[in-house]
Amino acid sequence: MEYSILAGLCEYLEKTPARLKKVSAIARILRRTDDSALPAVVLLLQGRVFPPWHEKEIGIAGQLMLKIVSASTGYSETDIQKHYKKLGDFGLVIEKLASEKKQKTLFSKGLTVSKVVENLQKLAYTEGQGSQERKGQLVSELLSSAQPTEAKYIVRTILGELRMGVEKGVVRDAIAKAYFSEIVWDEKKIIRLLGKQNKKILDHDSIVEKLSGKEKITKKEYDAFRERNTVDKGKITDRGLWRAKGGYDYVLAEDNEESRKIKKRINDAVEWAWFLRPDYGEVALLARQKGLEGLEKASLEVGKPVEVLLAEKAPSLEEAIKAFDKPAIEVKFDGARAQIHKKGKEIWIYTRRLENITKQFPDLVDLAQKCVRARECIIEGELMAFDPKTSKPLPFQALSQRIHRKYDIPQMAMEIPVQMHLFDAIHIDGRQLFDLSLGKRRRMLEDIIVPVKGRFDLAEQVITKDIKAAEGFYRKAIEAGQEGVMVKNLEASYQPGRRVAGGWLKVKPTLETLDAAIIGGLWGTGKRAGWIGSLILGIRKPNTSEFLVCGMLGTGIKEKKGNKDDLTFEELTKMLKPYIYHDEGGEVKIRPKIVIEVAYEEIQKSPNYDSGYALRFPRFIRLRDDKGIEDADDLDRLEKIYRMQKGKTDQKGRTEQKGRTEQKGKTEQKGGNI
Ligand code: AMP
Repeated sequence: MEYSILAGLCEYLEKTPARLKKVSAIARILRRTDDSALPAVVLLLQGRVFPPWHEKEIGIAGQLMLKIVSASTGYSETDIQKHYKKLGDFGLVIEKLASEKKQKTLFSKGLTVSKVVENLQKLAYTEGQGSQERKGQLVSELLSSAQPTEAKYIVRTILGELRMGVEKGVVRDAIAKAYFSEIVWDEKKIIRLLGKQNKKILDHDSIVEKLSGKEKITKKEYDAFRERNTVDKGKITDRGLWRAKGGYDYVLAEDNEESRKIKKRINDAVEWAWFLRPDYGEVALLARQKGLEGLEKASLEVGKPVEVLLAEKAPSLEEAIKAFDKPAIEVKFDGARAQIHKKGKEIWIYTRRLENITKQFPDLVDLAQKCVRARECIIEGELMAFDPKTSKPLPFQALSQRIHRKYDIPQMAMEIPVQMHLFDAIHIDGRQLFDLSLGKRRRMLEDIIVPVKGRFDLAEQVITKDIKAAEGFYRKAIEAGQEGVMVKNLEASYQPGRRVAGGWLKVKPTLETLDAAIIGGLWGTGKRAGWIGSLILGIRKPNTSEFLVCGMLGTGIKEKKGNKDDLTFEELTKMLKPYIYHDEGGEVKIRPKIVIEVAYEEIQKSPNYDSGYALRFPRFIRLRDDKGIEDADDLDRLEKIYRMQKGKTDQKGRTEQKGRTEQKGKTEQKGGNI
């Protein structure tokens, strides 16, 4: 397939905010893509060249891109930087420069989708000495054959900045639309359908005929409709719904309810296959080649990650216990979800976001090889870092250091050892366990694990409906520095990729919001060009007017005004501009004048910020224009919440002392490293 077709589609998707139109446009292209190009097209549409779990990444950042764009257009790096500053996007820069230069170098040969994916995949495998140059050549080869629009999307794909609003749900719906019938039941829509040409339509239960009986359609119209299209009368079958293999373009359903049921079945089948094989390229092929039955019978593959069951929030421990007949309570560990796959001697480890972290955890691989008795299996648990001296759990950041480590991994594994708390099994020795109850899955898990205490063990479980016993367990979990507890329904099956009512309920203390000052920001790029796109948050140094950085925030502020209470980036930028006192390299420093209320998931220790702490996933709640800067929260309050959140009251002395020394070092650096 020509890459220009895909670039044209990308251009359309970028300009078209309406979700349904995006879905239809993608479906049209999917229908005309042949099997061999289908996986590549689906990946590129999502801005990827590898499926999500693949270990490799393209690995080209702004600086190298600057050099590449300069080399392939002949403009100096300074010139390109100037254009970049104005346009805020390398994609737009290359498009502009390529259109100016097109007579000389462009249009030498047509690019195919496969060639683009091939070169971009090679980028990820280009390592070692001279790799920068070779990467440059791979990109330049594409850019020199690309038309301006194609060049724009190649560059954006490389930088991971596609921004077309093609999220997972859009791809799922597009696959459903491409390969299965459209279900119509509404009279008006059916009447509109009469104007179609060369379509295959299943007039289920003679719905059109019935309408003509009601004189909504004249006999003449009906005859003309039948002449222009192939209209059959008959039952709705799986095969009939499978448009890709001779089924119908449109199926007329009796009423809204029937239509909803059929649509849901199609969407669920596509989604189910995605949960088990999270690569829409593969799912698209399966839908086209095997239809509904193929999707519904999709099976997981040991070695490739599966979308996991998620937890819902419970309002209180009491309500969580009441929700199930047989509740099992487990500690909610403060680590990272890990999915361990075993096939013979081979082990893979994936995170909940399907990242492959096998290489980073040779110690865990070793434990899994020794302690799992099944020939092949997929088991799950929470991975946690612990202090080798005290054996106490370490906060999530320690584990995060291990997840992101690329070198000296064995050394790091000794400094920050990990422990695995296993809590579920979804596949054991050729058997998918989704339909079994948690109670049964847990017993099967126990049967295949030879535990090593403190390193590789099953998560402790208390089965009780007694609120006193549950509260005792909860308190112990919080005091041990864990997040809270999970209350699980022992009778529930496993539903991959879903937060299901009746499955898992998480109970953790809620955190109060903070009133922080805006003390800096980063100029946005792309759609946010010209606005301050991320805010640097400050917390007051106690009893002073000085502010210390405690996080970056971009969530909760809107690009467009949806309702009157929304705050847009544009409004905020206008508000902040008078207080900017330093503007360099895309970053601004702002005098603390404006206070905002911020919610967040958690407070973490952070060596990167001069407060010594970072708000995890902060989001904007509202402007506190009723508050002066002296009313903004200070570091003492933040530390108090930090201790509460961690249940650190018992270890208060230790935590405070550690916090103070870290912080002292940092505040002296002033300004901090953002
Ligand atoms: P949340 O991320 O707040 O939605 O909570 C769900 C996450 O809690 C899971 O994805 C796991 O990573 C984590 N977790 C910690 N302990 C457990 C446990 N005992 N059972 C299930 N999930 C757990």
